[in-house]
Amino acid sequence: MPDNLSIARLVEELEQRQRREWPLVRSNYDAVDNAMVRDLWLGESLVVLQYNPQRRASASASLDAASLAARPCFLCRDHQPVEQEALEWGGGEFKIQVNPYPIFSRHLTISLTEHSPQSMANPHRVVDMLSLARDLPDYVLFYNGPLCGASAPHHFHFQAALKGVMPLCREVMNPAVWPDENQLEGTDDGFIGFSKREGRFLFMIKSTQPVQAALYFARLQVAMMQATGVAAEPMQNLLCWAEGDDLYLVVFPRRKHRPDCYGTGPGKLLVSPGSTEMGGLWALAERKDFDTITADVLRHLYDEICIDNHMAVRIIECFQQESFQKK
Ligand SMILES: [Zn+2]
Repeated sequence: MPDNLSIARLVEELEQRQRREWPLVRSNYDAVDNAMVRDLWLGESLVVLQYNPQRRASASASLDAASLAARPCFLCRDHQPVEQEALEWGGGEFKIQVNPYPIFSRHLTISLTEHSPQSMANPHRVVDMLSLARDLPDYVLFYNGPLCGASAPHHFHFQAALKGVMPLCREVMNPAVWPDENQLEGTDDGFIGFSKREGRFLFMIKSTQPVQAALYFARLQVAMMQATGVAAEPMQNLLCWAEGDDLYLVVFPRRKHRPDCYGTGPGKLLVSPGSTEMGGLWALAERKDFDTITADVLRHLYDEICIDNHMAVRIIECFQQESFQKK
C-alpha cells in the first residue's frame, strides 16, 4: 500500500502522462491554462469568472430521469475512452482519474469502481472524503449532491481541484470568520460553525481529528433532513481539504439547483451551479455571460439557490436539539 506521498506522486505522474499521451486532455487543459478570467468582489468575497466553452455540454445537460437513463454512464469503465487511465484508491473501492473536461489546471474525478448512486448517506463516504483530502494535500475535494450539480447522479463520485483557485477556501480559513458566536460546538481538536458569505449560507467543520469531523457531519446531515422534512439526502454541495494538521469540511445546504434565469439568449444565463460556484469560481460556457455578469447578478443567484435565513435557523435549532437530547 503506497503512503500518502507516493499516492500524491502517482497522481501527478498520471496527470502528466494523460496530458502527454491523450490529445483531448492536452488541448482541454491547455485551454483552461489560457482561459480568460475576470475578478468580481461581492463585499469582501472574491468571485472569479472563467470563460470556458468546453463546459457547454455539462452546463446544458438534461438532468431529468429519462435523459439520464438514456445516457451511458461515463464513470463506468465500459463506457470510458480507451485512453482514460485509472489509479486505484481505498483498496480498489475507488478509482482516481484525470477529468477530461476540466475547470482547473489540475482536476480529478474520484469515483467508486462500482456503479452505485451519488449519496452521502453511507457514513463511510465522509471518511473517504476526509482521507482523500489528507492523501491529496494539493487539492480541494468536492462533492455535488445528486440534485445539486452532479452530472452523473447514478454513479458515486468526488472531484478534486487544484488548491488556490476557489477563493472561498482561503476566505473561510481566516479565524476572524469564526468568532465564538458563530460556533455551534467545539473541543480542543476542532469545531463546527456557521457563516453567511454573500448569500451563501454555509456550515464549516474544522478539526485535526477525522472521527470528530465525521461525527459533526453526520449530525449536521440529520439536522438538515429534520429541518427540511425530506427523508432523502438534503440538497447540498461539499468542499473538503487538509491544511497542515487541520481538516476543513464546508457544507452548503441548497434549495435550488438551476436558477430561474437558466438558459441561453437575452436575459438568460447558462449556469448549473455546483460546488465550484459555491467556492467562488464560475466557469461560464457562454461568452455573453462571461462579459456581462455583475456582482449584483451573482448576489441574486446565490440568494436564489442557497437556503434563506429562516431555513438556516431551523437547521441550527435541529442541530442543537439533537445535541441536547444526547446529553
Ligand atoms: Zn456508472
